[in-house]
This record gives sequence, structure tokens and C-alpha cells, in this order.
Amino acid sequence: MESKLVVFEKAGQPLQFATCEIPALTEGQVLVRNEYATLCRSDISTYMGKRIEKSPTILGHEIVGRIVAFGPGEAPCDAYGRPLEVGSRITWAIYAANPDSEMSRRGIPQKSPDLFKYGHEQLRADNTLHGGLAEYTILRRYTPILPLPEEVPLPETAIINCAVSTVAGSLRLAGEMKGRKVALWGIGMLGTIACAMCREAGASEVVALDINEERLETARRFGATTCLRSDQADVEKLKADITIDYSGFIGAMEDSVRALAIGGTAVWVGGVCPQDKVKLDSEQIIRRLSTIKGLHNYNAEDFKVAVDFITTYYKKYPFAELIYDGFTLEHAEDAFRYAIERNPYRVGIHFQSK
Ligand SMILES: [Zn+2]
Repeated sequence: MESKLVVFEKAGQPLQFATCEIPALTEGQVLVRNEYATLCRSDISTYMGKRIEKSPTILGHEIVGRIVAFGPGEAPCDAYGRPLEVGSRITWAIYAANPDSEMSRRGIPQKSPDLFKYGHEQLRADNTLHGGLAEYTILRRYTPILPLPEEVPLPETAIINCAVSTVAGSLRLAGEMKGRKVALWGIGMLGTIACAMCREAGASEVVALDINEERLETARRFGATTCLRSDQADVEKLKADITIDYSGFIGAMEDSVRALAIGGTAVWVGGVCPQDKVKLDSEQIIRRLSTIKGLHNYNAEDFKVAVDFITTYYKKYPFAELIYDGFTLEHAEDAFRYAIERNPYRVGIHFQSK
């Protein structure tokens, strides 16, 4: 059996369309026929050359698909330990990591030494079908997997395993949300999802901050109670219990700390690329008993929360509006161009069924 795939060599070079023989599965592996993928911001950054990944590679890690086959031995189980079934629609975590590694045991499998990351691996003859821009993906052993209800539309499920799971991780680090005032910087895909997630977790106030007024308007429909232009807001007055930055802008990260009430926690999620240093006032951090945490990717618990969140609230919030559903795999190049030129929250790629 063969699979089509889209190969990324380097920025500025057109994507290559290729075909490969699907290798024989080994124990613990799951063959998935991809049904839908969304282009994450990091895919676009790699495509544009803003970040350098191992290449050639198959981009795309926000993916959903249907189980086609298992490797030899017992059928693998899902993230709750339930046996998986051929034919099920599933989503899976962005990573595979040995659950017994020291890092996994500490709750940060994304930093395990044996980490395998979908959409970020080098394409080799002995290591293929690990990204969303291919007809099939081979899920490696130790990948957290969860089945999806058929009634949830594909675009909404595709965003689970990067955007929604990362937001779930940021809320976990932020701590108790009930009755707390939250301020969020960077109301793109993650910030918009975070508005809804914070509200559903019981935040009393959700303040959305961005320079883009259209995005702030959308934030309101996702549960933001106050929307402020981040370049005009008097952040010292915010006095938020929890602040989260998804923008990665230095000024926003600095503001997220200045905006904290006494005993507050700031979580930084954006800005996963080399840039200038952030300037902080140590005296204020000490006197206000502030906590600052960083988050890169997420763990299996966050992934489970993300699946629950989308399957529970996909009708309550207009997630579908955030995804431009206009391309097939054959038009992957156009999908990237559209994402760069028009900058929607997400561009979706659907796979034609045979
Ligand atoms: Zn991503």
C-alpha cells in the first residue's frame, strides 16, 4: 500500500509531492488515514524560514484521522487504557514519549530524551509518515491517543492536539481559576480558545488584550468579559490574579507581569524563538509575591482535557468560524500562501475520501 505525502525541504523552495510505500508496522504502532489537518503557526513559521526544523520533513501536526491497522501483538490502548478499534476516528498528542522516563514521570513528557514529535521529524527512508500533510500517519508507540465522537465536525477536532491542548496546559500551570480575574495577551487561535476555557473553568473576569480590534470582537463571542487594545491599556491597573501571554511579544510578557495582583501567576506560552531579553522589575515581583511560569507543548492530562473541552463545547462557541476550510492536500502550497497572505486563525486541509 502506498501513501501520498508533501515534502518540505526548506523555506523558499516549493513543496514536493511524493509517494512512499507504507512500511510494515511494528509493535505498538497504529496506521491512520488522515482526514483533516490545520496549519499551526509553527508550521507557517517553518515554511517561511522563521524557525529551522530538521529537514526534509512532513509538516502538519494538528491532525485527525481514522484507524486503518495496528502493528503486530496486542491492539494498543487509548490514553485512558481502553483498547482502540480499527475504523475509529481519533486524535493523538503531538508527541510520543516513554511514560517511564524521568521527564514523563515528572509530568513533562514533551522533554523526554526519546521524544518523537509529529510534524517535526526528519524524513528518511526508515522514518516516514510522521506529519499531517500526508495521506497516512504512522502513530508511534507511546503516543497518547483518544477516540472522537463522529458528530463533532472535523475542523474543530483538528485543533485539539496543538492549540487546545496547549491552552489546557497553560490553564493547568495557572492554577485555580474559579472566581479569579484573568488577563490574556495575544488573541489569536490560542488566546481565543483560552477566553472560552477560562470562562468554563469559572473565571469571574476574562480580559482579552490584543492590538487587532477585529480579534478582540471575536474574543467577546468566546467569553471575554473585557476587551482592551494591548498598546493602549493601563496594565498596572488590571490587578489580575492570572495572566497568560500567547503573543510572544516582549512588551506583552513584561505587561503580563506588571498586571499581576498580589500573589498572582503569569504564564508565558508564546515566543518560542530566539529574541531580545525581557525586562522585569525584581522588587515588584518580590513585593507582590508573583510567580512566572513557562510552557512549551503539553502533557497527556492536558490532551485529555482538550478532547473533553471540544467535545463538550463545540456547539456553544463558534470554533468553525476560526478555521478557513478551503484546501485539499494537493493544494497544500496554496494553503500556506493563503495562511501567510490572509492570516486567518487557522487554514484547514481536508482529505478527499476515496
Ligand atoms: Zn502547533
